[in-house]
Amino acid sequence: MELRLAGVTDSRVLNALEAVPREVFVSDPFLEHAYDNRALPIECGQTISQPLVVGLMTQYLELGTRDKVMEVGTGSGYQAAVLSRVARRVYTVERHEPLLRQAEERFKRLGLTNMVTRHGDGMKGWPEQAPFTRILVTAAARQIPESLSDQLDDGGVMVLPVGDEDRQWVMRVRRQGHRLNTERLMAVRFVPLLGGLPPEHPAG
Ligand code: SAM
Repeated sequence: MELRLAGVTDSRVLNALEAVPREVFVSDPFLEHAYDNRALPIECGQTISQPLVVGLMTQYLELGTRDKVMEVGTGSGYQAAVLSRVARRVYTVERHEPLLRQAEERFKRLGLTNMVTRHGDGMKGWPEQAPFTRILVTAAARQIPESLSDQLDDGGVMVLPVGDEDRQWVMRVRRQGHRLNTERLMAVRFVPLLGGLPPEHPAG
């Protein structure tokens, strides 16, 4: 997989992608495709994103070693693990509890200690830990959620897909004081960012 040729040029991001074994985050039936450059199904009807998209979104975030990052949409945990190899600390939130628990086990297995996880509605962000210098959303919002841009530090950057099922763009939002500057970066297709929590799984 030649991600450099495909536009990932930041050496910190390339090193992070190299350091995180994607096979640890892929569901068993898809193990043989772990290093294909494509999104794959995971539990709860969700997906692990395409490696190129993970690389580009991380690069768009302009991530440094001092950053305090919030990720909305832990999913398999792969993107969070990549972020954790560059940033100071990663706060990742997921609405499907089984996905979050599985991701936590994977972080432990890989010895990633600069991660904090939460089962909850990431549409609300993580007010107790705000502000964040970086925010990455890995599910598509209909529009830029104010609840998240409000939790961005001055000078901070948020990267997120915005749009409906048919048309989505990765946007970069930069906070400068009370102003938010937005840029449209690339066309993508993500599962939707949903408010609230899914119904509990029936016991037994
Ligand atoms: N970052 C993930 C990875 O590396 O595997 C990919 C995540 S998948 C494309 C999007 C995830 O966002 C799903 O797991 C979904 O359950 C989650 N999600 C959607 N809406 C959410 C919300 N309001 N709060 C938290 N997680 C949410």
